[in-house]
Parts: sequence; C-alpha cells; structure tokens
Amino acid sequence: MSDNQGFADRNSQPLRVIISGGSMGGLCAGLALRRIGCHVRIFEQLPDVLQSWGAGSVVQLEMDRFFFEYGIPATEAVGVLSEKQQFLSIDGSIIWEEATPQVMISWDMLYHQLRKSFPNELYHQGNKIVGFEQNDNCVKVRLEDGQEEECDLLIEAESASSAIRQQLLLDAVPQYAGYVAWRGTIDESVLVPEVAEFLAHNFTFYNGPNMQAICYLVPGSNGELEVGKRRFNWLWYFNVPVEELPELIGNDREVVQKFYLPQAEVTEKVMHQRHVEAKKFLPAVFQHLFELTEKPLIQPIYDLSVPRMAFGRVCLMGDAAFLIRPHTDAGTSKAVTNAIELAQELQEARGNVVEALKSWEMTQLPLGNYVRVLGVTLSNRLGLSNSPSFVLHHP
Ligand SMILES: Cc1cc2nc3c(=O)[nH]c(=O)nc-3n(C[C@H](O)[C@H](O)[C@H](O)COP(=O)(O)OP(=O)(O)OC[C@H]3O[C@@H](n4cnc5c(N)ncnc54)[C@H](O)[C@@H]3O)c2cc1C
Repeated sequence: MSDNQGFADRNSQPLRVIISGGSMGGLCAGLALRRIGCHVRIFEQLPDVLQSWGAGSVVQLEMDRFFFEYGIPATEAVGVLSEKQQFLSIDGSIIWEEATPQVMISWDMLYHQLRKSFPNELYHQGNKIVGFEQNDNCVKVRLEDGQEEECDLLIEAESASSAIRQQLLLDAVPQYAGYVAWRGTIDESVLVPEVAEFLAHNFTFYNGPNMQAICYLVPGSNGELEVGKRRFNWLWYFNVPVEELPELIGNDREVVQKFYLPQAEVTEKVMHQRHVEAKKFLPAVFQHLFELTEKPLIQPIYDLSVPRMAFGRVCLMGDAAFLIRPHTDAGTSKAVTNAIELAQELQEARGNVVEALKSWEMTQLPLGNYVRVLGVTLSNRLGLSNSPSFVLHHP
C-alpha cells in the first residue's frame, strides 16, 4: 500500500509518525496513518516475528471493516465459522442455544495479515523505545541502541506494561482483577470424535458457580481450515485470591500486584491439583479438553484504565491505555477503533497534531471506559473478580 500524498502537515511535509509497539494496535495505527499520507515507522522491541499466546479471537465488526477497507483478505477466509452459542449444565446437557454466527480466528492469523500489509523497511524489530522528550514542534525519541529519532507524533502502543505510560502517568498501573484464565489449544484430531463433533460448529459455554469455561474452534497453527487440522481454543476462568497467585504463577506478591503478567506456564504440581478440581467442577467435555492439553497456560486477569490518552504530541492507545477483561472480546477492536479515529481526527485537524489528539481523546476515553465497565459487569455477573459493580452508560 502506498502513502497517500494528499495529507501533509502545515509545512507541506508528510507528518512524521513513530509508533512504539508493533502488535495489533501499532500495526492498525500504522496502516491507517499511512493511508492518510503520514510517514510512519514502527519500532517493535521483540526481535522476531511475534508469536501468539496460542489463543484465538472472536472477529468483531470493527476488525472486519478494517480488513475490508484496507484490502486485506476477508476474515471469513482466514477464520472458522461458529454457527451457534450453546450453554451447558454441569451434566453436559445443553440448557440454552442460540444461532449466533461468528467467525473465530487465531491471533497469529490476524497479526500476520496486518503485518504483511505494512512495509518491512518501516517496521524495525528488536529495537525498543526507552524515552522521549517533546517541545512545541516535535518529539525526540531515544532508542535502546542509543539512536535518537525525531517525529511530529509519537504513538504509544506498547501494551499494559508500557514504560512510556509510566513516564506520563505514574499512578496508572495494572491491577490484578482477582481471577485467572487457564487456557489452551488442542488439535481437533486429538479429541474423541463425538466430543469434537459436539464442539466443532459452536461457541460452547459453561457458567458455573464463580467460574466460566468456554471453547471454540480456530484455524490450525499454520492457518489450516480443513476439517481435522484445526484447533480447539478453550479457557477456564476462576477466582484466585491475590495471596495464592504468586504460588500459581511463580512470582512474588509485590510483582503480582504491581506489574502486568501476561501469562505463565502451569507447573506440574499446580496442574495436578487442578485436574482434581476439573473433575469436580467442569462438564465432561471441558474435562476432556483440559486433560488432553499438554501445556495449558495461566493468564492472570488485570484491569487498567487511564485518565488521559493525549499528552501534547504523544498519545497512548490499545492495551497501553485500557486493559479490558476478556469476556468483551473487545481488546483488538478497541485498538482498531483507536487507530481509525486517530487518522480521521488528524485529517480533520489538517495535520495539527495537538488539536487532533485533543479531539481524539474526547471520544476514545469514554470508549475505553465503556468497554472496561462492560467487562467488569460481565465478569461480576459470573461471580468472577473482586471489583465493585458499575452502572453502565453508553458513551
Ligand atoms: C506476542 C503477543 C501475542 C498475543 N497473543 C494474543 C492471543 O493469542 N489472543 C489474544 O486475544 N490476544 C493476544 N495478544 C494481546 C492482543 O494483541 C491485545 O490485547 C490487543 O490486540 C491490543 O493490542 P496492542 O497492540 O494494544 O497491545 P499488545 O498486543 O500487547 O502489543 C504491544 C506491543 O508493544 C511491544 N512493546 C512493548 N514495549 C515496547 C517498547 N518500549 N518499544 C517497542 N515495542 C514495545 C510489545 O512487544 C508488543 O508487541 C497478544 C499480544 C502479544 C504482544
């Protein structure tokens, strides 16, 4: 995709944008801003192609639209169709089902589709942004390798553990939400055929006392869509008091409370205890998934919200601003919306970065808060988490 030459700043030079973080948020922002004629460079700290957490994603409307508008192959072509939602009781019988067609995709597929659309020469891997300074005219960015770069706009799309956010907002730190997700993927060919058939075309839920288990089919690890080569993605959410979390994920309490921990491998000891509990608390199909998954992962759920997203010529977006509970399936679509709206505001402000960011913040802050509250409300209804209930208002 080539830069649109029509958009330039007030000096008729393309607006120079640096994005810190080359995952979903960074790539969507990069593509959206290139489309309006900005000169965009992305710096991603990880040296290799990003590897998924092995997890799936529910395709949301915003992502679908983004793919369509940017000429990226449609999400249906790289995802698996789930025809209905089915809710199980503990004995495994279906207590509610509803036709809700949804496309399920693996994180890797989304990432690779976006990554392929962004030019390699502008995507710098293995280099990290370690600091910045800004004045009225520009932002000076310091990189880990000692280089300095200058830009008109710095977008911080660095995830919840963002160092730049810590520099901007000392008090905005992720907080442990009081529960975890055990998650895993398993090849469909490994399952007993009747279980695979029962789960294959559906988004399956079990809502138990203070817990939830879900499962859906996603493409194979190399994007395969053929029957027999796809994978089931499952998650089991349950409460874990903060005192018990360090043992579960092998970190001390201070780390648990102060830092965002994306996920950890489950130890043998914990795995054994949990097998016993799975037998007691889960319907047989979920026990089956759990038992056959060799290396489940454990992901503590954190909350994060910021009071501001715009700071002169610097902005926070995606998970770096709002870390949303997973029940909303909105983490990626929120990042996409942040990106699209930013491009729109920059165009409307004719390249006046500070004005554009101010207007952008006015819509994106309420959006982030809305999805955050929605996530907390959904998890509270399931008896998960230690958060107070909120009253939900539409933005
Ligand atoms: C490797 C990886 C795998 C993931 N897998 C899944 C999955 O399977 N399913 C799912 O639902 N969600 C997954 N996520 C999370 C998901 O991408 C986000 O929740 C959501 O899409 C919002 O994306 P984001 O770009 O705001 O944040 P993230 O996706 O968290 O990306 C932030 C990026 O910034 C980079 N970064 C951090 N600090 C710096 C720095 N100082 N300089 C440069 N770069 C920096 C990180 O390496 C990361 O690539 C994954 C994220 C990552 C990073």
